[in-house]
Amino acid sequence: MALKVSVDRELCQGHSVCLGECPEVFDVVESDEGYPQVVVLQDAPPEALREKVLAAAQYCPNHVITVSEE
Ligand code: SF4
Repeated sequence: MALKVSVDRELCQGHSVCLGECPEVFDVVESDEGYPQVVVLQDAPPEALREKVLAAAQYCPNHVITVSEE
């Protein structure tokens, strides 16, 4: 089972908690909305990043990160 990461950018408010937890998978950049938003750098991260990806999803203040298994 491989990890699959998706985000709801509509609800992301650029707190950068995700970037702090797992910079291998998440970046936060300026958006057209006028404030920073998350970018997923790899939507199928390796197993070695599982703990960090799950931490990012858990601690995202807006709960916009979804991690599933494929
Ligand atoms: S922690 Fe959540 S709300 Fe903040 S930038 Fe990351 S995905 Fe967006």
